[in-house]
Amino acid sequence: MNSESLKRLRSWFVKNAAELPWRPADLDAPRDAYAVWISETMLQQTQVSTVRDYFIRWMKRFPNIETLAKADEAEVFKYWQGLGYYSRARNILKTAKIVCDKNNESYDSAVLRQAQHTSSSTIALRDSTTTIQCEMPRTRKELEALPGIGAYTAGAILSLAYHQREAILDGNLVRIFSRLYELDFLPTDKVKERRCPIKSGMTEKSFSEIYWEYAREVADSPKAYMHNEALMELGRTVCKTKSPLCESCPLNKECRAFTDKRTAEFPPAKKRTEKNWHGTVLVIESADEKIFAVSGGQKFLDGQLSLPHFESPRGATVGLPAQAENFINADDVETVKHCGTFRHSITVHKIECDVLYIKLNKKAKIAVSITTRQNSSNNAKFEWIEKAKVFETFANSFSLKALKKTF
Ligand code: SF4
Repeated sequence: MNSESLKRLRSWFVKNAAELPWRPADLDAPRDAYAVWISETMLQQTQVSTVRDYFIRWMKRFPNIETLAKADEAEVFKYWQGLGYYSRARNILKTAKIVCDKNNESYDSAVLRQAQHTSSSTIALRDSTTTIQCEMPRTRKELEALPGIGAYTAGAILSLAYHQREAILDGNLVRIFSRLYELDFLPTDKVKERRCPIKSGMTEKSFSEIYWEYAREVADSPKAYMHNEALMELGRTVCKTKSPLCESCPLNKECRAFTDKRTAEFPPAKKRTEKNWHGTVLVIESADEKIFAVSGGQKFLDGQLSLPHFESPRGATVGLPAQAENFINADDVETVKHCGTFRHSITVHKIECDVLYIKLNKKAKIAVSITTRQNSSNNAKFEWIEKAKVFETFANSFSLKALKKTF
């Protein structure tokens, strides 16, 4: 993209930039790296309109990385509930703790060095009341070493927050580059899946590399932060997946797909890799009105508090399934009731689940049963939740859908 195109792109952005909670009115102002990181992570796989409220709520509760680093996972999941892809929330928390630990270590070393230098006998080491201001790293290498931060998020932090000339490449930029240059392959395509003749010597990595080359060309410019963000905005609002608004696009002069009237052909369709999964969810209630919850060792929602579930064929919902005995004793069961089915999606899985409600009798030795059946090899943990609090305790739609079918 030449400097003339970038200039047009920039002035389009200045006139059309939407007001967003993570975007300051002054588009030239460096951003808070923490806010960039949180918003960009939320925006992965999720619409801006959805993220808006989540981001505001999140920033009220966790206004900075120091606050987040002190939070526990259950609370973080609650603020993420509904955004899906919970591994993102777990990684955000892990990264916050790593960044703050590193900052704290640096603080201690600096204090010790200063004390040695001045031969001071009083050293102001941290105590529980000391809060060190933590900062996200400023290099791609350090950022990409953190959980959940990939090439795109690292580029966004370095570019938007620190104004470095760093490239970013998200789905919006891929769509724009594909149309601008008529690239009929995706960065994720493997050579054996290619849909176009490729240049000799092109390797499996090259498809992604070609897109990154275009992204780096954009970033290699003054005000790269604005060009990067403008392209993301252009992709979202003008160069849309369906029916791009080419007449009002600042890049239509050099867009090959527009000139050739082939915008519908680019980018090529992605191969869907959806997997169907059928299973059963158990809503187990004790005689004293507590609901059985499990964390870990399950097919889905690893590490999150969820209802026990397992794979099962359609129609296998009569009586107590054998898999239920991984959690309870058959002798302790008073009633078993099929409460219907629900559909749900987790990552590429299209899920259909039967919901089985199991009421235990008064004789059920809950604590013993659970301790003895705990499977230490897969880190499964079990607990009982007060029935009156289940809807506020489970932080995933999968469990909530099963509970709604039951109660
Ligand atoms: Fe996208 Fe149309 Fe602009 Fe080309 S001219 S970049 S297809 S909106």
